Amino acid sequence: MLVLGAGIAGLACARRLRLRGVDVALLDVEDVPGGNSRGHRIGAGPALGEGLRCPLGAHYLPTPGPEAVEVRALLEDLGLARQEHGRWLYEERWLCHSPQERLWWQDQWVDGLLPPAESTEVQAQYHRFGGLVEQARREVGFAMPSTHHAWTAAHRALDAKTFAAWLDEHRLTAAPLRWYLDYCCRDDYGADATQVSAWAGLHYFGSRHGFMSGEEREAVLTWPQGNGWLSERLAAPLADAFHGGRTALRVREERHGVQVLAWNEAARRAERWEADQVVMAMPLFIGARLVEQPPSALTEAARGMRHAPWLVANLLLDAPPLERLGAPLSWDNVAYGGEALGYVNAGQQELDPSRGPLVLTAYRALRESQRKELLQDDWRAWAGRVLADLAPLHPDLPERLQRIELMRYGHAMSIPYPGLRGAPALAALRARGHGRLQFAHADLAGYSVFEEAFTQGEVVAARILSRSSR
Ligand SMILES: Cc1cc2nc3c(=O)[nH]c(=O)nc-3n(C[C@H](O)[C@H](O)[C@H](O)COP(=O)(O)OP(=O)(O)OC[C@H]3O[C@@H](n4cnc5c(N)ncnc54)[C@H](O)[C@@H]3O)c2cc1C
Repeated sequence: MLVLGAGIAGLACARRLRLRGVDVALLDVEDVPGGNSRGHRIGAGPALGEGLRCPLGAHYLPTPGPEAVEVRALLEDLGLARQEHGRWLYEERWLCHSPQERLWWQDQWVDGLLPPAESTEVQAQYHRFGGLVEQARREVGFAMPSTHHAWTAAHRALDAKTFAAWLDEHRLTAAPLRWYLDYCCRDDYGADATQVSAWAGLHYFGSRHGFMSGEEREAVLTWPQGNGWLSERLAAPLADAFHGGRTALRVREERHGVQVLAWNEAARRAERWEADQVVMAMPLFIGARLVEQPPSALTEAARGMRHAPWLVANLLLDAPPLERLGAPLSWDNVAYGGEALGYVNAGQQELDPSRGPLVLTAYRALRESQRKELLQDDWRAWAGRVLADLAPLHPDLPERLQRIELMRYGHAMSIPYPGLRGAPALAALRARGHGRLQFAHADLAGYSVFEEAFTQGEVVAARILSRSSR
């Protein structure tokens, strides 16, 4: 069995197959497995040894709900979850430590990310939106992963319009509420409420986050290297099966097997791999280019998708920036009103009490029209934009900054725009394999989070195993 792509979906699939005794090989372009959930180190040298750990992409996993059986089983295997007297408990070491979130609001930091309601009208709209989310939960139903919930006429209706149109219909127009909802959509989907479907907007809250009013915090698991902690553990037992620096160039299905042509970067030559079956665990638009005579569902699904570009900047500081008025440095730190997504202090999970060097990880979801700019502009220009975003929050940042490292994602995540989630082509790729090819990637859910990617990998492995009756 050959798995092409060692992101979360590919790792989940290969891990399950390996656990059941299947001979599996895993190829990836990168030298390190994990895809968009890789960790990183910055500042290696005499002072910091191997460097400080930081995320390169994904940085947290909400504690799973009842539908996320595969994710919960993984967390149990990794010693992160256990059941006591019928209740699920999570490893405190990796639950997000306090303080969790703060918002830069009117020149000071306030606790939590929901903007303070300064008028009764804003407060009323917060309550009304919370009520509508609860109503949709009861009447429509949401699950994480979304593919574990039936797709009904009510879902289709929500999927047919934008979240912004749905909010307008419900006269939910208060600026702080709309900014917050845009922020949530950009944070999870890479695009704002005018672009994502109403299904996606409500799914965000209905499936896992709830709509927070400031009193309650969602429990999330997070690590200094972000979800790299998870991908490292998924990859560890597959070390001998992983072949990094291999770019799949062509996938040809033949009568007795599948031929894969891959570029071996270290050896600077192409090599041929043969397998009984191949799992395409890479973004669908790449898969559609590699497979010779691709199934029509793949071509159609790939044609119908749009991906958001993202920029991730890791900033190494010699000491924490000066504290400003209000809430202290938190795990997640966001500025009200801006387009940037703020920064994460992932090292807060290290439990290191010293006030020495630290890394802040800044995130920006870009517009699709900025993809070319992201690729072509010099890194200094992008570093300058990141620093300009943070300047109002931390005027002393330039003095503290030792180093900045940028990660550019041209196609970071699929945008769940109206009509995508319910597209028949995506459903066809999720439902079954096509000949000797199977598809496993977060793209199949129409949007990208750990739970969807991991579950896609597990589902495909289960399908392969049931066919071979292992
Ligand atoms: C900046 C950022 C922040 C995020 N934050 C979060 C978060 O906090 N929480 C969360 O749950 N999710 C988050 N996500 C989403 C999460 O990272 C993804 O859902 C998940 O990692 C996707 O896994 P995947 O296996 O589906 O895909 P990918 O990560 O895309 O894996 C695909 C793999 O295929 C490889 N590949 C591609 N082409 C080829 C080829 N031709 N040959 C060989 N290999 C190939 C790639 O190198 C990659 O390793 C974030 C994503 C990004 C980009």
